[in-house]
Amino acid sequence: MTDAQNMAPASLQEIASCIAGYDPKALPVAQAQEFIARLVPRVQAVERLALRSALGRVLAEDVVSAIDVPAQDNSAMDGYALRGNELAGRTGGGNGNDSGNDSDSDSGSGSIFAIAGAGFAGGRFEGVATAGQCVRIMTGAVMPDGLDTVVPQEFCRVEGDRVHVPAGVVKLGDNRRLAGEDLARGSTALAAGRLLRPADLGMLASLGHAEVPVFRKLRVAFFSTGNELRSVGEPLEAGCVYDSNRYTLWAMLQRLGVEVLDLGVVKDDPAALEAAFTAAARDADAVVTSGGVSVGEADHTKLVMARLGDVLFWRIAMRPGRPMAIGRIESAGHTAVLFGLPGNPVAVMVTFYALVRDALLAMSGATPTPLLPLRVASAEPIRKRAGRTEYQRGIVSQGSDGHWQVRTTGSQGSGILRSMSEANGLVVLAHDQGNVSAGELVDVLPFDALI
Ligand code: AMP
Ligand code: MG
Repeated sequence: MTDAQNMAPASLQEIASCIAGYDPKALPVAQAQEFIARLVPRVQAVERLALRSALGRVLAEDVVSAIDVPAQDNSAMDGYALRGNELAGRTGGGNGNDSGNDSDSDSGSGSIFAIAGAGFAGGRFEGVATAGQCVRIMTGAVMPDGLDTVVPQEFCRVEGDRVHVPAGVVKLGDNRRLAGEDLARGSTALAAGRLLRPADLGMLASLGHAEVPVFRKLRVAFFSTGNELRSVGEPLEAGCVYDSNRYTLWAMLQRLGVEVLDLGVVKDDPAALEAAFTAAARDADAVVTSGGVSVGEADHTKLVMARLGDVLFWRIAMRPGRPMAIGRIESAGHTAVLFGLPGNPVAVMVTFYALVRDALLAMSGATPTPLLPLRVASAEPIRKRAGRTEYQRGIVSQGSDGHWQVRTTGSQGSGILRSMSEANGLVVLAHDQGNVSAGELVDVLPFDALI
């Protein structure tokens, strides 16, 4: 997929022929995901951003470390730097100044070093520590030449200009950070495709980068379809509902870090639908719609989609969210990937997380990273039919025995948006799985991890 845009994109039929057992009327979620991954192109344009502005953006080039981090060996503790092979009670050879009377508890066991000077963070001891000498050193200070071990100050007893180090408290090399142990010069610190997170910004700063190359933001247009929809602020006539999908979709897209174009509510009118799709294909990389894709849907949405682009209408083996349109819409030489989601408010969110989220991240240039499910015991039996993936709204909590468990939010109707709001995760019951018994382990995708 990397350079997909340099090649003629595969037709939907070609993609379908790559998917084993492809059946658009009963498509398993895994196959739908594979199809979509093959369909979507990746943005190419790159911009350079100041480090902080790059949070949540996708790195466009590998970042190779031009320096060792840390640049020199330095101390990990406040204490005394010395030669580890001069310590009493060390393991290995050398003659050091091992006293040989390790069993004495009051004063004898250990080693005595003369303090030759001091080194502080941001500086170093410039002198030479000879045999039997040590250097007072602070965390982060460069290790003096020839010294390889730091004894934390809490182990030391200082008498005048001499330090007594008890036997056995440190080994050679302890409490010393090696040059390049964090990042070695020439190594890849971050690979292209990385979605930049807080630690990554810090790491880039530790390499001295003030700016980073990132892919341009993906542009995603979205709109709702349906004559029964009213926008907030309008009066609600009999038989109408407020358009909530434009708010959940907007919010999910915001969290993904894409540029969002809200094209509003579009009436079930061919000219209005065509205008909306045309604008989306012209201005956006992807268009996400909700509603109008069900089998037997009386309105014009499906007809206009099919007329303006190369579009497939799927029935996915999942619940909620069975119908979905997928394909490409064209306008004036521009193409947008179409994700035509069902209209039910829960179905919109679930299909977005199951099928759209990863695709938009891939389009943004991000290397796919699997979502990490929690595996927790179900607090109660769950009815589940084998042969479809179910996404039940779950509440993960700590049971009285201290173990984490999940229970569902109750009624799982795909119009009950409250269930998404109450839940803190999606219980994902795999395609082949049947009924779940109480205590059985199930996968839960925590909402915090989804976005
Ligand atoms: P559809 O997929 O168009 O058949 O819609 C299925 C159900 O979802 C219907 O009850 C619609 O009223 C409802 N619905 C569709 N779009 C929206 C929306 N944007 N906001 C809230 N409910 C919607
Ligand atoms: Mg409808």
